[in-house]
Amino acid sequence: MKIRTLILGEMLNCTYIAENNGRALIIDPSWQMDNIYCVLEENKLTPQAVIFTHGHFDHLQGAAQLLKKYNLKGYIEENDVLLSGIQPDLLQPFKGDFKTNIIGLPVEFMHTPGHTKGSICIKIEDAVFTGDTLFAGACGRTDFEESDPAQMQKSLIRLAGLPPETKVYSGHAYGQDENSGTTIGCEIKNNPFMKLAVSDTKAFEDMLP
Ligand SMILES: [Zn+2]
Repeated sequence: MKIRTLILGEMLNCTYIAENNGRALIIDPSWQMDNIYCVLEENKLTPQAVIFTHGHFDHLQGAAQLLKKYNLKGYIEENDVLLSGIQPDLLQPFKGDFKTNIIGLPVEFMHTPGHTKGSICIKIEDAVFTGDTLFAGACGRTDFEESDPAQMQKSLIRLAGLPPETKVYSGHAYGQDENSGTTIGCEIKNNPFMKLAVSDTKAFEDMLP
């Protein structure tokens, strides 16, 4: 699998294009669809699936156009369908954890609520796409109506259980270049939220963004 990162929009959202044998999986297509089309066309990739890590607008702005263009339905956890504002016939909702094959690879959908009720992480080979659940050195905001700090803690603990060498691809390129190169193991060592999530519930909740 080859992973391409596009940093799009003023909030530095990361759209990921995962490629295997000319087939593409697009994660969080947002903002500049023309850039995404261009990368797909220049590399002669056939888009086969779209997955949304959660329903916040900055991760799916304009995505309806892409879904229509390629005649695809976007996977989204059912709790975030309404939040997404995307018309239901363009979505493929699922509930909780879920495994399937996409672009010829086993893909594991991990339900990791906290930032939103339907937030997910997507594990493929040695990569995990974490949306707004985990960033290099931070975790996602939990002060939205749809957030839940206690669930965020559980979700971070769950991510900490992945193999330490798992590469982390988060939903925004906050303060760094497109590939921070971070891993689950590095986050367990260096990310204060991850560290406290696994060790000290009270301190974790006090620290949450
Ligand atoms: Zn978000």
